[in-house]
Amino acid sequence: MGPPSRPRSRDSCGAGKRSVRGLSPNLDSRRSNRISASSNFAKPSSPIPGTSLGTPSDRKVKVKESLSASEDIAAEIVVWTGDIMNVDSPESSTPAPPEISNPPDVVVEDMQVEPVESPSSSPLSHPSPSPSIQASPSLSLEPSPSLPLEPSPSIPFEPSPSIPPDASSALPLDLPTPLPHDLPPPTLPSSPPAPASEVVISPFVDDDVAPKAESSSSSLSAVSDHSDLSPVLSSVSSKATTPVDNESFKEAMAPAVAQPASQVTDKPRRRYDVRPKVSIPPDLTLYEYATQCIAGAEASRLNPYALHPEEYSMLRDHISHTQVTTYLNIRNGILRLWVRNPQIAVTRDEAIGCAKDSRWFDVASLSFDWLVRRGYINFGCVEIRSSRKPVAENSPTERKQKTVVVIGAGMSGLGCARQLEGLFKQYSRRFREMGEEPPRVVVLEGRSRVGGRVYSRSFTTKPKEISPHFEGKRYTAEMGGMIITGFDRGNPINILLRGQLGLDYHKLNPDMTLYDSNGKPVDLERDQLVEKLYNDCLERVSEYKFQQPTSKLIEGNRDLIDEGRDSSAETHKTIRQAEEAAAAQPYAAPVSEQNMAPQVHLVPVSSDRATGKVHTEPGTPGAQKAAHRVKDIGWTLKHGVSDDADLEIEPLTKEPNATLGSVIDKIIPQYRDLVDFTAQDFRLMNWHVANLEYSNATNYNQLSLKGWDIDAGNEWEGAHTMVVGGYQSVPRGLALLPTPLNLKQKSPVQKITYSPENTGKATVECEDGYKVEADYVVNTIPLGVLKHGNVQFDPPLPSWKADAINRLGFGVLNKVILVYKEPFWDENRDIFGVLRIPSSRHSLEQKDYSSQRGRFFQWFNISKPSGLPVLLALMAGDAGYDTEQSCNDDLVAEATEVLRSVYGSRVPKQPVEAVVTRWASDKFARGSYSSAGPTMEADDYDTMARPIGNLYFAGEHTSGTHPATVHGAYLSGLRAASEVLDAMLGPIEIPTPLIIPKNHSSLKRKASGVNNKDSFEARLQQYEIDMWDHIVSLIDRRPLIPTKPASNAYIFFSKSNYDNARKKLEEGRRPGKGKPSANEVRVMSAKMWKETTEEEKRPFVEMVEEQKRAYAEKMTEWKKLAAEWDEKATELRLKYESEHPVPVANEQEGEGNKRRRGTGVESYAEPDEDEGIVDEEEDVIMEG
Ligand SMILES: Cc1cc2nc3c(=O)[nH]c(=O)nc-3n(C[C@H](O)[C@H](O)[C@H](O)COP(=O)(O)OP(=O)(O)OC[C@H]3O[C@@H](n4cnc5c(N)ncnc54)[C@H](O)[C@@H]3O)c2cc1C
Repeated sequence: MGPPSRPRSRDSCGAGKRSVRGLSPNLDSRRSNRISASSNFAKPSSPIPGTSLGTPSDRKVKVKESLSASEDIAAEIVVWTGDIMNVDSPESSTPAPPEISNPPDVVVEDMQVEPVESPSSSPLSHPSPSPSIQASPSLSLEPSPSLPLEPSPSIPFEPSPSIPPDASSALPLDLPTPLPHDLPPPTLPSSPPAPASEVVISPFVDDDVAPKAESSSSSLSAVSDHSDLSPVLSSVSSKATTPVDNESFKEAMAPAVAQPASQVTDKPRRRYDVRPKVSIPPDLTLYEYATQCIAGAEASRLNPYALHPEEYSMLRDHISHTQVTTYLNIRNGILRLWVRNPQIAVTRDEAIGCAKDSRWFDVASLSFDWLVRRGYINFGCVEIRSSRKPVAENSPTERKQKTVVVIGAGMSGLGCARQLEGLFKQYSRRFREMGEEPPRVVVLEGRSRVGGRVYSRSFTTKPKEISPHFEGKRYTAEMGGMIITGFDRGNPINILLRGQLGLDYHKLNPDMTLYDSNGKPVDLERDQLVEKLYNDCLERVSEYKFQQPTSKLIEGNRDLIDEGRDSSAETHKTIRQAEEAAAAQPYAAPVSEQNMAPQVHLVPVSSDRATGKVHTEPGTPGAQKAAHRVKDIGWTLKHGVSDDADLEIEPLTKEPNATLGSVIDKIIPQYRDLVDFTAQDFRLMNWHVANLEYSNATNYNQLSLKGWDIDAGNEWEGAHTMVVGGYQSVPRGLALLPTPLNLKQKSPVQKITYSPENTGKATVECEDGYKVEADYVVNTIPLGVLKHGNVQFDPPLPSWKADAINRLGFGVLNKVILVYKEPFWDENRDIFGVLRIPSSRHSLEQKDYSSQRGRFFQWFNISKPSGLPVLLALMAGDAGYDTEQSCNDDLVAEATEVLRSVYGSRVPKQPVEAVVTRWASDKFARGSYSSAGPTMEADDYDTMARPIGNLYFAGEHTSGTHPATVHGAYLSGLRAASEVLDAMLGPIEIPTPLIIPKNHSSLKRKASGVNNKDSFEARLQQYEIDMWDHIVSLIDRRPLIPTKPASNAYIFFSKSNYDNARKKLEEGRRPGKGKPSANEVRVMSAKMWKETTEEEKRPFVEMVEEQKRAYAEKMTEWKKLAAEWDEKATELRLKYESEHPVPVANEQEGEGNKRRRGTGVESYAEPDEDEGIVDEEEDVIMEG
């Protein structure tokens, strides 16, 4: 008996959309329709459709007060508070009385501030007296309006240029679809209308969730900036954040423990009643579809053209090298579905509908499992619908239920708990089959708020009038995590913030002015010269970095993937067999060394002024002699210094206890032997050092020479942004949406008893005596707290873990945040820097700069995101530690002095409100974020991530690819959730054979009408194929669209100047540095292009124009030929139909089947050279 059909709805797949190619019903329409509905882009009515949260205003009411605003304090001090409109005199030195809005609700947290240890005994350098922290009297439990979950109109919800606006949504679903651009119009008037839905959900397919019929707003463009950044993604794909070429291969998602991702199963094969291609929109060209799939992979940190190492280990026994292309097309197609609308989960059926041939259904299902489990899809505040079908099993009372306790409600803990909830829902059936209820998740948090180090603390000050764009938002100071370092290339915060929560954000203007210590702007040219020298210095020391191991690079066929085609070749050797056969050849490389990604060195090329992060590019570190290089970057060598002069770096790196700082401190004076280096140059150089210390939250003398930029190459792309109304909205969203997590606040954990062999339960004990028994514990307690040692582990953590805790660094960055009555600064700038003078004013000694360089060195104008005139100063490096012990008056006085040096007497004596953070004194953080401690080992971050029995670890300090960040913390939570699920359910099961061979005897036609090849459906399909073959035999295939030429003059320039660029690089090259790499040549060409005059550029510009003209001609010709072909094809089709009657359904085949008229004929698969068009095995059920 076939499964009962699901009730059919009009917007489900197969709604009568027809074309010669795209006749398949289309699951994708549920997603793409929403995307194209332009009315939805402006303001989706609900970020999570169908949730109990309902309308935005309902939602506000439902947001729990306890989550929204119980403001504990990250050791901050509110110095002067006062209503901005209620200040007698802004210059008054008397603190204005703070406005206490809701006295009965005031929660003043017991701060339990403890002294900070010096770096000799701990990574935090300066001893700190217990500061007398005053909690702000204005702390109040603000109600939910503080959770601005309404999608902001400012979010760019325009449809992607690659999707024709309203391409499908504007069409009634029971009318024929618009024609695919390269196909003749459908002319089958006799065919009955297709059913509204043709996906029949099988009871055998049910770990996943019901496809969602409800339409909701799109977030494709909301989660993608590619439209304005990179029109063609594919060819330049995956620079850094995908696992192609460097250490980013060691992706954040890979489980920390070497355990198989999958296992072969001999269980009966799943059965699917999904039709191939149902998730592929028929109204997109292959190229457009492929572009979206590639973008989907890139937006998910996966290489669209290559297997992730885990995919490789899952698939190497099951698919051949040539089949990798088809696998990647399916996987990228699933990711495309997800990024187009991350408000609802991708279902297994939708995923399977990305396969173009039913032989690949199990592969699609496997890929779906892997993507779900590893948190590449269906993560965050996503609605996941429970399985529809109940399972016959024991009565609920008899069922066990496991408990997972997550400690900590920061981004990692909330991310993990939310992900576990989602995974348990998606795999609920599996648990029930095991006789268990899906596990419960309990979050224990020490503070009285969520967010941890993402803390947007409400100002006491409020504006006189609320500007419309700030309505419903909170006026906050970002005490901790603040900047989102780009949404593109896979930042998961993009999905959460723009795709799901629809939060408003502010793009930071990257232009900044550096002011010298006398308040005058630094000459831009000098600034750039020194910056280049600083980068050269970092590049030279990057030679001593850890060499990251590379992984296998198993690639598909790029050209086919770019064109959206599958590979038709069907070699039968699996990847493993091919590798072993290759290894058996004489002198061949062993399997472990085959297909390895090339080793790529990343060298620093610039520094991000907003975050201090160093940007890298592939290259050869320190390739040129120093004198040659400094000349090249624009410095004049001192009299008598030859081009051959070089720096002595090697011995410095061999010194005992060498650190990044100890080496650079001794390199900088060496530059003075080559060029004239002034005191201002020293100040500039040290400003950059302070910036680097900001990104590492410690003095660079506390950074490992080998590991200080272990995360290099993993940066996102796109503008830096801040959340308007506070970044804390993101963790709040995670805690609340789609349904509130089971979260217990004010529950500081003091003891974790765990089972190292996973043979028993764990117990988590809180300071107040509260105890929870757990099957699994996920510990996200910050590294600083772990180092401090006041959380007890029973048994004590093994030495491999404890040693990594000791070796990694955990320093402090602090902030001084000042609210003014009105701005006196340049309101169009978001950032400015100030050079600080050393302890000895005109010193040319590097050591004299360290204590001062990070004091108020970087300022952010955060008026737009905070809603008030606010400046925020960073205290980095030594200054970060000093802040812990400095008194508030002194800090504010110093800040005012610095500001006055730049803005003069316009700066009031006192701000109206000031907030100082003291993260090292915060007992729930003990610092700001992790760093590469001096004795760090290459895999310490991975070691931090490794579970011990039933004790799992997450937190920014467990992410080697994105440490010290909000997104890294979040990704670590997804990783831990994946590990816990694997421990509960075991690895992903793989049926064998995974891909049913063509003509395999196990391919059994489904006995029921729809699946029987003798059925109406099959006859209809055969009819279409025969007709298609007939048409092609007479008029050949439709002409191919011409390839677009390069439209950039630089491309022609770089081609013709390749040799010149290489020669330039060879001049002054240090011995042993080899030939310049392709990337070095590229960088040099770019530099040469920059220096080329307009006159010199003209021939290349003309070449572009010539190419464009030729392309336009080809397009005109192509359009003509294509139109002619379409016309002929239509005629032939009609003629064929008149000569060969269209099959009609007999009575047994039923009405329903008649409606299935219109199965696709042209496959998206590349035609098999031998066999012509690929056979479409639609509706075939494969049984093991
Ligand atoms: C000043 C500052 C500026 C920053 N700037 C940026 C930035 O611009 N961009 C960026 O991406 N990142 C930034 N970061 C880093 C980012 O905020 C963190 O990496 C990230 O928030 C860490 O998340 P987490 O979940 O790992 O830890 P946390 O957020 O610290 O979460 C851990 C949770 O565990 C709780 N906890 C601790 N001990 C116990 C206990 N014993 N019992 C129960 N609960 C406990 C804590 O209260 C906390 O809620 C900044 C951080 C700071 C401090």
